[in-house]
Amino acid sequence: MDIINNGYRQYKKKAALNSEIYLANESDPQRPQLMVISCCDSRVIPNEIFSMGPGEIFSYRNIANIVPASNHPQSDSVASALEFGLLHLDIPHLIILGHTGCGGIKGATASSCDKDSALDNWLDIIRPAVCKNNSVLTNTQNALNLSYMNLLSYPFIEQRLTNNLLTISRMIYQISDANLLYFNEKNKSYTLAV
Ligand SMILES: [Zn+2]
Repeated sequence: MDIINNGYRQYKKKAALNSEIYLANESDPQRPQLMVISCCDSRVIPNEIFSMGPGEIFSYRNIANIVPASNHPQSDSVASALEFGLLHLDIPHLIILGHTGCGGIKGATASSCDKDSALDNWLDIIRPAVCKNNSVLTNTQNALNLSYMNLLSYPFIEQRLTNNLLTISRMIYQISDANLLYFNEKNKSYTLAV
């Protein structure tokens, strides 16, 4: 437990220095302007990547940052987070954040993934978009594009896009250099963010 206790003590010291932020967060309802769907990977920290603190990102994580289609039997967890964030909190910006070296993406093309495990069933969602002959980066991009298309299958998301109440961005975090690639709507490819 030392590893947890030491980290928590440091966190408390930092929080004490910014006590007004924490007090405001307690007394007000949360009003994040950004929702991020990212992978569970320990190297991918949305609040660090976007330099945001408590109350600023409504964060949802799962293996390989997958969004199932609205009619998929495994969609409830993601769908409930989307409903809460977009409909109840009225968040105007949504990012699906993939990353390089994703174990989930690799697992979707590997024969070593335990068949019929929960993980294997979950990765089935992106298997139509990935291929073992592609690079991991290409598979990451293709899986992200599939999740983006799946987002459009939620009627409330399509409605909010039509009414200009929502923007959706596709991004890939490069672990090796902390660079961010984003899907450029003009040339329909992933481009380095500057
Ligand atoms: Zn991952």
